[in-house]
Amino acid sequence: MTMTRQFDVAVIGAGPGGYVAAIRASQLGLSAVCIDDWKHPATGKASLGGTCLNVGCIPSKALLESSENYERVLHKFGEHGIGVKDVTLDVGIMQARKDKIVGDFTNGIGYLFKKNKVTSVHGHGRFAASGPNGYSIEVAGDAGTETIAAKYVVIATGSVARPFPGVETDNKLVCDNIGALAFDAVPKRLGIIGAGVIGLEMGSVWRRLGAEVTILEALPGFLALADEHVAQEAFRAFTGQLGLKIYTGAKVSAITPAKATVKVEYEDRNGTRHRVDFDRLVVAIGRIPNTAGLNAEAVGLKLDGRGYLDVDAQCRTNLPNVFAIGDVVRGPMLAHKSSEEGVAVAETIAGQSPHVNLDTVPWVIYTSPEIAWVGKTEQELKAAGIEYRAGQFPFAASGRARALGETGGFVKMLADARTDRILGVHIIGPFASELISEAVVALEFGASSEDIARIVHAHPSLSEAMHEAALGVDKRALNI
Ligand code: FAD
Ligand code: AMP
Repeated sequence: MTMTRQFDVAVIGAGPGGYVAAIRASQLGLSAVCIDDWKHPATGKASLGGTCLNVGCIPSKALLESSENYERVLHKFGEHGIGVKDVTLDVGIMQARKDKIVGDFTNGIGYLFKKNKVTSVHGHGRFAASGPNGYSIEVAGDAGTETIAAKYVVIATGSVARPFPGVETDNKLVCDNIGALAFDAVPKRLGIIGAGVIGLEMGSVWRRLGAEVTILEALPGFLALADEHVAQEAFRAFTGQLGLKIYTGAKVSAITPAKATVKVEYEDRNGTRHRVDFDRLVVAIGRIPNTAGLNAEAVGLKLDGRGYLDVDAQCRTNLPNVFAIGDVVRGPMLAHKSSEEGVAVAETIAGQSPHVNLDTVPWVIYTSPEIAWVGKTEQELKAAGIEYRAGQFPFAASGRARALGETGGFVKMLADARTDRILGVHIIGPFASELISEAVVALEFGASSEDIARIVHAHPSLSEAMHEAALGVDKRALNI
């Protein structure tokens, strides 16, 4: 019989939510164990970091960068007077670079666990029982099953790709994010279902590397969550220069894999039926919370109708001392949101009073141009009847953007018409992912557009576009 190991806090899942929660708990003097079942597909070894590090944020950004470099060499170096002949593409090397980056980071979490005295256990965790002293969790690993007992439990089991009903995801012909990040060659005709963040990022990578990419989106609009103006600009850029074929209002009714191709049937916005053949298909129709394997019934843990764990503002579930964070609960499915909830939950367990403000979580789409925003969109303000003033500055008028050769897009700032408090900032353009941080700080500190307008911004820098957008709210932009 194996001994039960006892901890103050057991975290289930070592994604950006779980591993951060375990580290923070340990920093605060609690004994913490982090249980995770992810295995590297090639080596079969445990690989920490969850979706984000293994098959999400990090590998996608590595491939986006590689594909952008390829695009630059082919189409952008010429205007700098740099001539390059016989450009070649080795997808194997590109993938090996991506795998190395992922491997360094997943191993890095093992190091962070050791440094912070977090116990790491590999295996699938499920609730076994609850009692007056806490919870027992059965962990099924390669060497057998062990029981972990803990007073507090943090569920950070993340999400998985939503499969297309009735169609097997084999990650060869019909792929989710895992397959789409691991192609060993550029497909000639790539189909993507879903024009969300993942569909657009994956489509951009393989389009730039030479695939003919068709994206089918069921909704009539494009990027409905983003500011309308940004979405329009993005649609123009993606379907124009980049050459993605994006069909909105396209309802996919059937997917039929054959030997080396896959047939997709869909109805367009006019009701006309189409049948298209692709060499590979990526299904990117959203992600679903990963709660199925938790044995929630054993302890009476409450899920909502869609499989998410029901939590309050402090991430407390219906069970005493059981918390849930990240993709498995309400709010945006973003790594930084998961991590902040992880920190907050650990601090709550340690008796502190932390707070995560979901209204100031920045959204980023790492396409080219990048898209980033925080706060309210113009259409949300209109719908809520809030009077606002808007300032907008195009990157075409930024010296730094011109030098970079990235002149598409703009920064738009929305501020309350009466108080001037900033309500939303929307960016499409170079390094939007970095620029948005200034806006996040501004919103968190309740800044006015006047505050940003009076702050000195370096010249020439992309941040001047933020400065000018702020000046524009008061109709006193200087360089446009
Ligand atoms: P996850 O990262 O999903 O981790 C959960 C972990 O728990 C996994 O290792 C899983 O195997 C394990 N697990 C599940 N059940 C059990 C169990 N019962 N026992 C033991 N272990 C279990 N977000 C961004 O912010 N920026 C981006 O650029 C970005 N890019 C993305 C690109 C792609 C292609 C994808 C798919 C996602 C991307 N995301 C991005 C989203 C981001 O990956 C998720 O929001 C984030 O990983 C969620 O973190 P998490 O800790 O909640 O869960
Ligand atoms: P995201 O949630 O950002 O990953 O985006 C998923 C996208 O897929 C959303 O824009 C959905 O509208 C879209 N989608 C969901 N189901 C289908 C479907 N059957 N056909 C086409 N698009 C879909």
